[in-house]
Amino acid sequence: MARSYDAIVIGGGHNGLVSAAYLARAGKQVLVLERRHVLGGAAVTEEVFPGFRFSVCSYVVSLLRPEIIRELDLPRHGLEILPLDGTLTPMPDGDHLWRVNDHARTRREIYRHSPTDAEAYDEYAKAMVEMARFVKPILSMVPPDPFSLDLAGFGRLLDLGRRFRRLSRPGQHRLLQLMTMSAADMLDQWFETDVLKATMSASGIIGTFLGVRSPGTAYVLLHHYMGEIDGAFRSWGFSRGGTGAISLAIAGAAREAGVEIRTQSPVERIRTRNGRATGVVLPGGEEVGGTVVLSSADPNVTFLRLCEPGSLGPEFLEEVRRYKFRGSSAKVNLALDALPDFTCLPGPGPHLRGAISISPSVEYMERAYDDAKYGEFSRHPYIDVVIPSLTDPSVAPPGKHVLSCFVQYAPYKLREGTWDEKREAFGDTVVDTLAAYAPNLKRIILHRQVLTPLDLEREWSLTEGNIFQGELSLEQLFFLRPVPGWARYRTPLRNLYLCGSATHPGGGIMGAPGRLAALEVLKDWDRGTVA
Ligand SMILES: Cc1cc2nc3c(=O)[nH]c(=O)nc-3n(C[C@H](O)[C@H](O)[C@H](O)COP(=O)(O)OP(=O)(O)OC[C@H]3O[C@@H](n4cnc5c(N)ncnc54)[C@H](O)[C@@H]3O)c2cc1C
Repeated sequence: MARSYDAIVIGGGHNGLVSAAYLARAGKQVLVLERRHVLGGAAVTEEVFPGFRFSVCSYVVSLLRPEIIRELDLPRHGLEILPLDGTLTPMPDGDHLWRVNDHARTRREIYRHSPTDAEAYDEYAKAMVEMARFVKPILSMVPPDPFSLDLAGFGRLLDLGRRFRRLSRPGQHRLLQLMTMSAADMLDQWFETDVLKATMSASGIIGTFLGVRSPGTAYVLLHHYMGEIDGAFRSWGFSRGGTGAISLAIAGAAREAGVEIRTQSPVERIRTRNGRATGVVLPGGEEVGGTVVLSSADPNVTFLRLCEPGSLGPEFLEEVRRYKFRGSSAKVNLALDALPDFTCLPGPGPHLRGAISISPSVEYMERAYDDAKYGEFSRHPYIDVVIPSLTDPSVAPPGKHVLSCFVQYAPYKLREGTWDEKREAFGDTVVDTLAAYAPNLKRIILHRQVLTPLDLEREWSLTEGNIFQGELSLEQLFFLRPVPGWARYRTPLRNLYLCGSATHPGGGIMGAPGRLAALEVLKDWDRGTVA
């Protein structure tokens, strides 16, 4: 072998980079190998059209773990989060719902729709804070393994039980409901205003092949709510320079700690000998040795494509095959000559600086899912729109704008035809849907990029285009992610670890999987089990 490292990290997405940085700071020699020409994975900024820089995939940030920002000193490496103020939901009758970060103003706005809901909104916010406080520490915890008699894991389970008992009685009930109910049913318990419930329930379906009325979506809603509670910094925000700037800040910290990073370096095989990983093979047969190998690619890519056939047992591979991806999201990125003009709030203004949610009613959301269930893209999709250039003018030429549409549903498996055939028709549907609320839209589009689930799979190696490297459904979370018995970053192959979003605590620009995986690797090193 040409060269050998202590650790090789497959994938230069933000989690791979976080793992690399922590390992290098602990004195290990680390190499990161990224398949694409640019770092970041799904947290990437690219100049898709001359002068227009897009957060091509992920577009807003909130869950990035504060301990990572602190420990890697990310602001010094260029991280800057700019606030995203609120969500505007235009309504077909020309009215709107506009929730902002200012609680009193939002309360007044909800009051305009329903005085009862304005009262309930305060109570709901308090209840969600309690739930998020319970769940948040889990994000920084290595999941216990209830299938083994490991004492440390048992202690962690006990601790969870104790914290559950410390919740108020209604809090305990709510938590169980959140774990089992649909987002729409849960919100029905609190509110009567349809548009409010619809736009809030949208967080429950992000990255899942579920509808707002499907059980389990209430938890996904909580997962996305967690960033909204801790004051301005951890509210949802834009990263200056796009979400790629987050990855580049982490890469900066990693390089400073001594990490070597190579782009355009796809790993073709993970080398194994006697049941342990020993390095990787690159195109052309170049071999690089590694005492440990961490893969931030998803389990399908890692175990079914990169591991040598026969190196993993059939039961484990069966579990890997059972892991659900079911991509259902797409992205439409638009370069604009001017700002869209919404009928419900004409002209430019602060309402364009936050998210704009096309989620006018619960029925609209569920019907969007109905199309997907039967293998078609939604004829009237849910769209989450942001215009980052209003907050960060560096991403577009003067006077021009970038507009990002996150769209559901775009099922990976179509009943008829292929995504290559349907890409532009889908793009037209998204533009038509948005233009119904902002009639000048079609006139101001300079360029359009449409990314289907197939494109996410081809270009970002996200199996079936799932944005979180596997659905965030309850049966795939915590000690079950990605495979029961293998949720603690280790794999059946010694010295091979997973460190991406397919591991606990899952998807989103969080960095938590990368950090926790690196800390587990270092523990194994200290215990002497790495060799
Ligand atoms: C369309 C879209 C919208 C999203 N929106 C948001 C959002 O607004 N906010 C949010 O918080 N999250 C969002 N997410 C989710 C979030 O971006 C991801 O969960 C997160 O970025 C995943 O990071 P990761 O490092 O775990 O994996 P990835 O980003 O998937 O990184 C894995 C890396 O491994 C590389 N790789 C794969 N195979 C190989 C190989 N054989 N050799 C070398 N390299 C390889 C890939 O190229 C990739 O760079 C979105 C995701 C998508 C796709």
